[in-house]
Amino acid sequence: MAEEPCQCSDCQRFYKQHDRLIREFPTFKQQQELNWASIQSFRTLCNKVTDELQRELSERESNELTCIEKKHISDLEITEAIDELENVNAHLYSIEVLMERIFETKISNHIESKFKEIANELAPDPLNMDRLILNRLFHQTPDSPDKKNIN
Ligand SMILES: [Zn+2]
Repeated sequence: MAEEPCQCSDCQRFYKQHDRLIREFPTFKQQQELNWASIQSFRTLCNKVTDELQRELSERESNELTCIEKKHISDLEITEAIDELENVNAHLYSIEVLMERIFETKISNHIESKFKEIANELAPDPLNMDRLILNRLFHQTPDSPDKKNIN
């Protein structure tokens, strides 16, 4: 018997996001670009925040009389965040190096059509009319013992 996938709110959010990314980026090339952009934007943002925190920390060191209201984030909190973000940045950099290799792969139009076809099976448009009709029919079926577990 196959195990039911977890239905907690985090997992459901993940399934939804996962399917949306397949539906909206159904080709190999689109997935390459999406993942590249996603790693780059994550890295840009983490780098920028790290720089900003470092700047703030050194500003505090050079001016110990910083007005107390400005210190709503403690020095320790900043130092710990910088350490963690630097780790994340190092990991993101490694992922980027691997992604570059994936990025070099080219796929023919025939295979791209296959990608689209499979994407459509994996993550059909939830607002697609056929699907809505099918869902409605399904939910009207009386005495279906497993109906709330399937969708
Ligand atoms: Zn879960």
